[in-house]
Amino acid sequence: MSEQTSEPESRPTCCKVGRIGTEYGLTDLDETLVEYWTDRTEDRYSTRELATYVNERILEGAFDEAGIQHRDGEIANTYRLLTDDDVSSGVRVQTRNELERDGLAIEDIERDFVSHQSVYTHLKRCLEAELETPTDDERLERSRNKLGALRTRTSAVTADTIAQLERNDILEIGEFDVIVDVSVSCTDCKQQYTVAELLDRGGCACEPDADGQLDHSTN
Ligand SMILES: [Zn+2]
Ligand SMILES: [Zn+2]
Repeated sequence: MSEQTSEPESRPTCCKVGRIGTEYGLTDLDETLVEYWTDRTEDRYSTRELATYVNERILEGAFDEAGIQHRDGEIANTYRLLTDDDVSSGVRVQTRNELERDGLAIEDIERDFVSHQSVYTHLKRCLEAELETPTDDERLERSRNKLGALRTRTSAVTADTIAQLERNDILEIGEFDVIVDVSVSCTDCKQQYTVAELLDRGGCACEPDADGQLDHSTN
């Protein structure tokens, strides 16, 4: 084996995102970006979310280098204070001043922040990552999961609300179950399906054809 260079995984940097990865020693950055971006589940990151992810790691690297202790969530909150449109300019100035006092070169750091376009270009051009289009089955599965989570949440919120009213003696009930039933009704034929049924069967039995005409041969 030839001797190693001092920099880990040294290679010519491709663009701003590549340079940031090297400069801040984020050796797993490319791998993570591709993984998060091409994730074929609901957890997939958009390029905007990936830019936030990169920028928070930049900030974290800067905190660590300056020896500033940070608690869980503090990096994300600081990043929000620096960049979010909803944060007043007064709060932003104060945040920047505090960071400077702590020894951070905040201007340099902000210059290193990457945009979602940069992340996209880095993924596509430098890493040649491709977003695979999900199959129909994957889409159905995703939709099932999404709606399932919504039902669970509706049920939990309902149970909480009722329990709270009961605790305050506003409503009286013994043990109870919450049943969440979501149905879809076809306005053409009036047939009603649970969401699960509809997703499983892939459409209504009346099957409007391509011309929008109804096929009433069934039922
Ligand atoms: Zn690049
Ligand atoms: Zn129908």
